[in-house]
Order: sequence, then structure tokens, then C-alpha cells
Amino acid sequence: MYPLPPYQLGLWISAYIDGRCPMCRVQPCAPVSTQTSGLLTQRQLLCTTCHTQIRWLPDVFYVDIGADDYLPIQAATYYDYPIRQAIAAFKQHEDLTRLPTLIHLLRQLPRPKGCHAGNSVIVPMPTTSARLIKRGFDPVTILSQHLSRHWRIPLWHGSSRIDTTVSQRGLSRAERLSNLDNAFTVSSLSTARHLLLLDDVATTGASLQALARMLKDHHPRATLSAYALAHGSYYR
Ligand SMILES: [Zn+2]
Repeated sequence: MYPLPPYQLGLWISAYIDGRCPMCRVQPCAPVSTQTSGLLTQRQLLCTTCHTQIRWLPDVFYVDIGADDYLPIQAATYYDYPIRQAIAAFKQHEDLTRLPTLIHLLRQLPRPKGCHAGNSVIVPMPTTSARLIKRGFDPVTILSQHLSRHWRIPLWHGSSRIDTTVSQRGLSRAERLSNLDNAFTVSSLSTARHLLLLDDVATTGASLQALARMLKDHHPRATLSAYALAHGSYYR
């Protein structure tokens, strides 16, 4: 049910063998449990010093997805140094040394209450085929596979993104929204009651908003909530 996600070997090396923090490269990561058993000790993915320097769990922000209906978006942290650099290195250069840091962020997200494998699915933000071909991999799918294992909630890949939209970077909020009109489609319907959307970075939340509106049209009885590694400030 939960196939081994890609890049799992690198994470095991980081968590069991290397033991050094991938962010500062100096401090050892603390063991997950004080009771060690067997030959290998599982460790946290960041050291305590780096962990405490990160501002965790910004306030949930909301975007409207219909009449009196709002999508809550919870990010693990802010899109600031050094998280911004870690996300960019992984997304743009497939720098796998950054993956343990990003998985550490995912693990800080609060598991949604009442959600389990029987009633919920995780919906990764779909990418376009042009972007997939250019990058050669899909960062959000990789992250969502790890979140799926962590929360024990299956992935659902029933939505896709159409290639005609241009990149959201540099656009105003109004331009982002109109650019995203009809950007998403569904190829199948989910029977889950809770759709948990995941993106890497949420700035204005416009992409998540457009995806959620489309999903809500097809799943009027489902509840939707969204999660991201980082919340970026649009006005910076
Ligand atoms: Zn560190």
C-alpha cells in the first residue's frame, strides 16, 4: 500500500549512519528515542540547534474557494534563509543533500485530526508535463510520497495541470488567479471525505486556491485543507 518512495536510501543514510545535521554539517542529530535498540540508532534529520532556529508553523491562512467556503493553508515554516535555499537547491538542481531538511519540515506539519487512510487522500500539486520534462523529476510528488508514509494516508493522483498557463513567478495576485483559470482538470473522482492538498511553497496561495476550487466542483461534499513546506511573503 505504501511503496518505498524514491530517494529512501539517502534518507536512511542520513537518519541512521551519517548522524550529522545536513543543515550546519557540524552538530550531530539527536537520537529519535533515548532507548536505543539494535546496532543502528535512528536520529532526527536536523540537529537541535538548527531546529530551534527555525520559526515553525506560521498562522494558518485562508483563501476563498466558493460561497462561504475557505481553504485553510498550513505551512511548516516561512520561506526564508536557510529554508528558501534548501527548497530551491532541491527543486532546481535535484540536490539530494537537501532532502532530509525538507522531510524534517514535512514532519512538523500537524497531522490533520480525524483523517486516516480510510477517509482521506493527499493530493500533490500537479505539475505540467513541460515542467516535468525540463526538470526531469517532480519535487512535490517526492515530498508527498514521504508525507504519505509519515501520515499513513494514501496519495491520489486524479488531477492534472494543463500546459497552457505561464509561470506564476512575477505575476500579481490578480494575474496569478486569471492565469490559473481552468489550469487544472480531474481524470477520476476520489471517494475520500477529506482532500489534503500539498505544495512546496505557498505565497499568495493562488495555485492551491485554483486547484481547490476545481476539486470542490467535482467533490462538493468533501472537506479540503492544504499544506506547504513554506509560506512565502509576496511583498518582500
Ligand atoms: Zn545543524
